[in-house]
Parts: sequence; C-alpha cells; structure tokens
Amino acid sequence: MKGLGACLLQDGKPVAFASKILSNTQSNYSNIERETLALVFGITRFHTYLFGKEFTVITDHRPLETIWKKPLRSAPPRLQRLLIKVQGHRSQVKYRPGKEMILLDTLSRLPNPKEARDVPLDIRVESICSEVEDTHQIDLIFFGQHKRTELQRETSNDPVLRSLWQTVTQGWPETLQELPTSLREFLSDRDEIGVSQGVLFKGSRVIIPKTLLEDILRQLHLGHMGIESTRRLARETVFWPHINKDIEQLVKHCAACQEHQARKQKEPLLPHDVPSAPWTRLGTDLFILNRQDYLLVTDYYSKYPIVYKLTDTSSAAVANVMSGIFSLCGPPDEIVSDNGPQFVGKHFKDMCRKWLITHTTSSSHYSRSNGLAERMVRTVKNLLKKCSQTGQDSQLAMSHLRATPVDSHMRSPAEMVFGRPIRTTLPSHYLSRGSTTTDHLLNR
Ligand SMILES: [Zn+2]
Repeated sequence: MKGLGACLLQDGKPVAFASKILSNTQSNYSNIERETLALVFGITRFHTYLFGKEFTVITDHRPLETIWKKPLRSAPPRLQRLLIKVQGHRSQVKYRPGKEMILLDTLSRLPNPKEARDVPLDIRVESICSEVEDTHQIDLIFFGQHKRTELQRETSNDPVLRSLWQTVTQGWPETLQELPTSLREFLSDRDEIGVSQGVLFKGSRVIIPKTLLEDILRQLHLGHMGIESTRRLARETVFWPHINKDIEQLVKHCAACQEHQARKQKEPLLPHDVPSAPWTRLGTDLFILNRQDYLLVTDYYSKYPIVYKLTDTSSAAVANVMSGIFSLCGPPDEIVSDNGPQFVGKHFKDMCRKWLITHTTSSSHYSRSNGLAERMVRTVKNLLKKCSQTGQDSQLAMSHLRATPVDSHMRSPAEMVFGRPIRTTLPSHYLSRGSTTTDHLLNR
C-alpha cells in the first residue's frame, strides 16, 4: 500500500498532519507524478490555512523544485492537470534532502486507509480541470485513431523509448554514470518528460519513436514553411533529440523550397494598427496563378488566410463567395481592399451594407494600406506553387500554415480565430490553450 503525507508547519512547528493511501491508478504513477500528487494533496488539504498567503512547500524530490519554476505548459500532460489545481496559491517549492524529513516519511509509510478520496476545492483555478479527474479516460492525443495506435505500438517497440519510459516511471538516477548512454541526450529535458496513454511526452510535445521520424518530418514540412516556422510547428506538436537540426536539413534539401525560394525583399513595416480582437478587420485581394483566379481573405489580427478558386471575377461572384465566408466565420467590422472593379462594384457594396460591414479601399487612406493582403497573397501563391510541383494536397498544406504559430510569442492563426488549436496531420496534445480562463495560468 502506497501513501502520501503532508504536514503543515508554522515557525518550524507542526500545526496539522494529513495522509492518504493512493488509488490503484495513482500507485502506478511515475515517481515525479506521485511527488506532484503529494504536493497537490498537501496544498488542497490545507487550503483553508494557505489560500491568500505566501508559503513554501518543502519537498525531498528535487525535480519538483525545477518544474515549479518553469511555465506550466512545459510540464507533461498529467503533471499539468495536477499542477493547475494549485495555481491559485502563492507558493514556492524548495528542495530538502529526504533524510531531514523524518516526519513526512513516516506519514507516507503509514497512510490513513480511510482517506483515499481527493479533497474537493472550490476555487477559481479549478475551472478547467475539476471534472477531469486523473482516473477518467480522456483522449489526450489529437491524431487519427489508426495513427495513434501505430504511435503507441512503435513507442513500445522502440528500445530507447522503452528504456526512457522505465526511467521516467522509476525515477531518474542521481548520477550520469547510472543512466544508460542512449538516454543521456534526454537528460536536460528530464523534468519535462512524462508518460500518458501509452505515449511519451516532453511537455505537451509527443516524443516520436525512430521508426516514425521520417513520416513525421514529412508532415512537419507539408506547408513548405521555412526553418523557423517549421520549428515553431514542431514546438506545438512533436519532439525527438536533434529535431531542430533534422528540420534544418529537411528544409534546406527540399527541392520545391529551393526552387521557389521567396525573394528576400525588404518588407516595409506597415503602419497599420493591429485591431484589438480577431476577425474584426479583414483584408482581401485577388490573384492569378496558372491562369486560375483566386480570392484571398485574411485577418489583420491573426493573419488567418482563406483562399477560394474563382470561376467568375465579377462583383456579384466575389460578393457571393465573400457572403459564404461571413456565413461560416461571421462578418468583420471592416473589410479593406484595393480599388479593383469587383470591390468597387455595386454587388460588393450591397453585400457589405447587408452584413453591416464598413468597406475601406486603399485610396481612402494611403496606397499601401492593403499591404497585409498583398503579402499574404505572396505567401499563399508560393505555397500553391510548391504543392503543384510536388503533387501535394494544397488544402492540407494551407491547414498547416494556419496551424503554425505566427511567431515565438504568438499562437497560430487558427487558434487566435477559433480559440482552440486545430488538428493537423501531426499528433498534438489535448489540453487546449485557447481558453482565456487558462491564459494566465499557462503563462505562469
Ligand atoms: Zn519545402
């Protein structure tokens, strides 16, 4: 029987004790998960004494101290779910060697058999996780069912990952010498590595077994984005040692990317102000590729691109396609375009009036004010050219473009518009970062 113990101390003197036995599921947790569970148990049990006060949690498990200091999103899924429960507390975690914590050791070895239940708490930060108990089966990995089974199978067949799994579950050794050589490249990430649903995670990134690397690399470059963008997409989804180097090699050796390398031109910093919310101001433009007309619509806030093939470029046809987009995604407050005949035509103007949209044309302000749409046209055109060269599905490629974070501080266009990450052909973690309730927590 395994148990947890916690003791509340004031000025070094004990005030209250608590202990409980672990459920069967909890007994199978990895070392770091059990230690985190103990931390959460202690804080939630003594919530009445601790809430609103600054306090220190003393632990004999050093990795807990490191994890506590890192952003919540860098923790593996199960740890995130546990740690979220105590985010509303103002605490720091300090390590102290186990031999100096005799009291707690006794408590955890002699747990109270009546106390197997969690202590329910009613505080703000419970909002997203209170219903998600660890014993519930929830789908943690966004990936097709067939692919998920393959990932689980290949993870368990991969000798390095099997050994990593064992190490994570049993606890990392104290010295480097005790660690198998094959696992040494994971050492610097050890605090972030966890196991969930038959798969290994580094933070929220799925660790990919060797046999699947080539396929996943191909998926990562589906949108033919540059090295940095491809790395940003990987940071949202997958991990293996040397992934950054592999991505660099892949992009550098992609024939389509080499051939259609965007000319490095100095983009003037456009003085347009970014709206304060997504989908409030859209830019639109038309373009031709391989004698085919296209309509592009993009959002000034998120840079989310929508592209439609046009069979007719009249004002009525463009207004009709635009209406369809607004029906699906909602209308913006304002739409910006150039003075093309489609946009200044009667049908387009009527359509804007019907949807209560202010229509601004470039000349209303200054000639470059439609720059965002023009830049997005260049990006999309480039992507479509590469897809037609390689015979790839351009819709899939576009979805990868929408799912890739805009820069290292921003989310993906899709997540900004929909408030949730969209699924791609890469595995990704279930815990949505889109909820505004969790924003402040995840950026701890
Ligand atoms: Zn490429």
